[in-house]
Parts: sequence; C-alpha cells; structure tokens
Amino acid sequence: MNNRPVILVVEDDAPVRNLIATTLKTHDYRYLTAVNGAEAILKASSYNPDVVFLDLGLPDRDGIDVIRQIRAWSNMPVIVISARSEDADKIEALDAGADDYLTKPFSVEELLARLRVTIRRLSLMSAGTGPEESVYANGALSIDYSAGCAFLNGEELKLTPIEYKLLCLLARNTGRVLTHTFITQKIWGRSWENDVASLRVFMVSLRKKLEPGPDAPQYIQTHIGIGYRMLKVE
Ligand code: CA
Repeated sequence: MNNRPVILVVEDDAPVRNLIATTLKTHDYRYLTAVNGAEAILKASSYNPDVVFLDLGLPDRDGIDVIRQIRAWSNMPVIVISARSEDADKIEALDAGADDYLTKPFSVEELLARLRVTIRRLSLMSAGTGPEESVYANGALSIDYSAGCAFLNGEELKLTPIEYKLLCLLARNTGRVLTHTFITQKIWGRSWENDVASLRVFMVSLRKKLEPGPDAPQYIQTHIGIGYRMLKVE
C-alpha cells in the first residue's frame, strides 16, 4: 500500500503535532513531521509530500515565508494552521499560496474533513480534469472552456460574462479557498471595497443558477470574511 498519501506536519507545539500525527496514523495516512520552518522546507523538498499541514507560528520563521518558499517550486497543497482567530493572517497565507486553513483549537473531524477536500482535489487533478483541461466536470456541473459555456445536468446555464468568469475561476481552483482579494483582482484587475461588495452580489446570482437548494450549497462554499471555494462534488 504505497499509494497512501504522505502528509507533512509542520508544528513546533508537541501536543498538537502528536495529536495530528496520531489522527493521521489512525486513519491510515503516512506522515512526516517537522518542528520548524527550515526542517519543513527541507522535508518538503526531499520527500515531496502530497499535502502539508503548516503551523503559521513557527520558532525560526513566519509560516507565510515557508509557503512562499514551497510555492517557488511546488504546487503541493498547503493547509495552514493558525492560532490567531483574526482572518488577516489566514488571508495573507491564502494569498501567499496556501490552499486551506484550520483555526486552533480544531477538532479531529475538522482536520480530517479538510484533508479529504484536499485529497479529492488531488484526485481531480490526476483524473485529467485539472486546471489545464478544456472540459471541466464536477457532479452535475460541466464547463466547456473552449466554447465558453457551462452546463448543469446537460442544460446550458444562462450566465452573465462576469458570472461565467467567476465560475471558471472557482472551477480551475476546485478545492482551494480563494480570498475576496484574489477573486476581485482576477475578475476586475483590482480589489476595492466596492469590488468586494459587487462580488457578493454576483455570487448570489451565480449560486441561484447553480445550486439546487440555496440553503444547502453543494458547489460553492462561503468562508465568511475570507472568500469562497468550489468543492469537488462526490
Ligand atoms: Ca506554533
């Protein structure tokens, strides 16, 4: 069984590190650990893990720098662990290239759920419906990028140009949490207060067309104060 995902756990706090390691072991994941940023970068580059859990508050350097260094050569998914409850450092981490975040204290269920979302994204990429493919398929949703059309259950969605751009941006980043700043910069080329407000409005109208039940979104997940994520539907 060598195809079990390998997870790199970067955490200087021993009880938290042990909790994560035990959880991973119990659920049949392979794992490596690192206790500081230097070790994290070394192990990430030598072992090329499938997913990295990265504590932002490390003794030798800021976790954000670790993300930037990893992103210089790899797209491996990084889930940051933040002790601070403010959104600002999660947003900074996501904009630096992290895929997702967990806030301390977190439950084992939460940890496993985040990991499943990330691993589903990896399997989506290896199944050939990654960001570079010309057709995207996710549950009942499909997008034909070359034709510029999106379909739900085979029926073409009537989207405005901005809704379509938003949908494609989220789809190409399935599994990743995209911040308001990232999205507005990609869509409008800037990120002003007004753009974030318009983004909310466009998101409401896009979801009305896309989600079967507006109260139980299947595709687009909201991260209040942070951004949005396209989920891989099973
Ligand atoms: Ca720490």
